[in-house]
Order: sequence, then C-alpha cells, then structure tokens
Amino acid sequence: MRPLVADIDLDALRHNYQLACRCAPQSHSVAVIKADAYGHGALACAQALQNQAPAFAVASIEEALTLRQGGITQPIVLLEGIFSADELPLVERHGFWIAVHSQWQVDVLLAATPLKPIPVWLKVDSGMHRLGFAPNETAAIWRQLSAAPSVARLHLMSHFATADARDSDYFHQQMATLQALASELKAPLCLANSPATLAWPIAHGDWNRPGVMLYGSDPLEVPNAITQQLRPVMTLRSEIIALRDLAAGEPVGYSGRWRAPKRSRIAVVACGYGDGYDRHAVDGTPVLVNGQRCAIAGKVSMDMLTVDVTDVSDAAIGSDVVLWGTARNGEVLPIDEVARYCDTISYTLLTGVLPRAPRRYHGRSA
Ligand SMILES: *Cc1c(COP(=O)(O)O)cnc(C)c1O
Repeated sequence: MRPLVADIDLDALRHNYQLACRCAPQSHSVAVIKADAYGHGALACAQALQNQAPAFAVASIEEALTLRQGGITQPIVLLEGIFSADELPLVERHGFWIAVHSQWQVDVLLAATPLKPIPVWLKVDSGMHRLGFAPNETAAIWRQLSAAPSVARLHLMSHFATADARDSDYFHQQMATLQALASELKAPLCLANSPATLAWPIAHGDWNRPGVMLYGSDPLEVPNAITQQLRPVMTLRSEIIALRDLAAGEPVGYSGRWRAPKRSRIAVVACGYGDGYDRHAVDGTPVLVNGQRCAIAGKVSMDMLTVDVTDVSDAAIGSDVVLWGTARNGEVLPIDEVARYCDTISYTLLTGVLPRAPRRYHGRSA
C-alpha cells in the first residue's frame, strides 16, 4: 500500500474548538465545516464536535444534506443561503438556517408559507464587497423580514476583509458601520471569522463563525498567545521510498531546478501534486524526516517529491515523513509555514488534499 495518508486528530479539533469558545465566552460558536471541513472530512468532524458545537456552517445545501444524512441533528447554517427557490422546502424540512444576501432571496422568503418559520442571518456588506446588502438598504429589509411570518430569529451577519491584519483601519471602518446598524436595529450579530474570534473581541457577537482555526491553522498576520495554543488537526504523512547519493553539481528532478551544492543524500518521498501537495513549493520548503527538519530539493512531481536528507543520519527507506502537522517525536511543522514557501495560504493546502490521500481518524470517538 502507498504510505501517504492524512492523519486527522479529532482531539486536536475539539481542543481548537474549545479555544474558539474560550476566546469568546459571551458568544455561541458555529463550527464552520464547509468544503468537507477544509479537507478534513465534514461528517467525521461534525460527529467529533456534536456534543460541543451548537450549530455547524456550510456553503451549500448539498453539504448540509450530507451532514443530515450522516445523522447530524444540530442546526446547519447555509452561509450563502439558497441558490434557487426550490431549495427552500428542503431548508424547512431539515431545519437549516439560511443567510440572505440578495433581493431575490428576500422575495422567496416573503412569498413562502413554511409551517415553521426559518431562522435567517441577513447579510450586510460592510466592506468586503462580495455578498450582502449595502448598509443603507439593510434597515428596510431587516424590518420587512422581522415582520414576515416565514422568518424566525433574525440576525445581522457580515464578513471582514482584513481581520487577520495586526491593525487595520479598514477593519475598524467595517466595525463602525456594523455597530451603527446594530444599535439602530437592536440586531443580534454574527460577524467574527477565525481571525476576529482570536484577535478582535469587539467583533464578537451573539454568534461567531470560526473556521480555519478549528483545524489548527493560525490565521493572524502576527501570532498571539492564543494562536500558539492551536494544535494541527491534519498531519500529511508519507515515507521515504528511495535514497540517492549525489556528487556535487548533480541535479534533481524536472528541469534540474536543484543542484547538489556538495556531496548530498536525496530522499524520494511518496507524495506529489497528484495528491494535492502544492507544486509551487520552492527549494527549501520544510519537511520533517523522522521528526527532523529538512528541505525540499527539486520540483515536486505528480507522485513524488525529493528532500535533502544529507544531515538526517537515520534517514532510510520507510522513514516517517511529515509534509505538515505533527511528527511521531512531537515536532510540529505548521501548515502556515509550508504555505508561505508555496506562496499560498493554509486554506488552499488543506482543501487541496485529494482523495488519493486517505483520511485516517484518531482520537476519542474516531
Ligand atoms: C468560510 C467562512 C468563515 C470562516 O472563515 P475562517 O477564516 O476560516 O475562520 C466565516 N464566515 C463566512 C461567511 C465564511 O464563508
């Protein structure tokens, strides 16, 4: 069997979720598990959190139905609401909550006659300029929905563009817009994503929406005392399948991007871009071999990548290789660090891990 696996530590997931709750003790935290829980397996993650999380959030009704069919009974929020009017009966039947960001969605709701009113998060565009109503049109829609018999427990929802920055005028501008609306409408709020949950208590609302932090990635530009307690949930792990001794000057891999600066030992690892490992990883991208840091040497191939193990005395065929996550000796390679070497973010690495890397679950209830 090919040795590549994505080990998923469900105890770490629960630890990170508790951390999100402790950051915001006055808020409820909806666990964001869209995109198959950022590549970790939505149903397994929901099951692991079902005794702690009062609600889950996903991006579409298909994702929500998968959870319901898997036996998840909590409310599930559709962060982009319905994509067509014919989804509304399913929303009602399964007790989903919906974001409402467009006039056509308001019209569908106002025309609907559900047996039980539907909980709604009205989305205001406070500056992200993606989804939601303009602040100056929000109050009228809020009042219309509040009066509608089809609508229950209306919340005001918004999303931040720069909550990850250490200090950002734009964040405070969005916040001021939202505070003005909230006090005018006496609206309960749902604003904070992971960075705002971790760094901006002012943004904590009735509900928060932590996502990536649940998986152990630090979303802040500058780590703080809390983010340092996050634990990686996914460990992408493989093994050395071959070793090569190279003379100074010999190249490795496609186009010979890396050349041995001296006599070097190269390990071939069973993991490539065909598994979702980022092909943009530069020479020097960190990898753990037997828990020891070393570096990618040469371009990532479809099924393999190559690592300079000249200084790893115990590197052998079958040695444990961690592409990100936690090695057997406890050494951690943060996915955020790997992402920087790939000129990307942890979100793309996590959601990019393909089914070819089987998920293997660990922890209580795994
Ligand atoms: C994905 C998403 C989140 C979670 O964001 P993180 O940065 O992963 O915490 C929160 N709110 C909305 C609307 C989202 O789409």
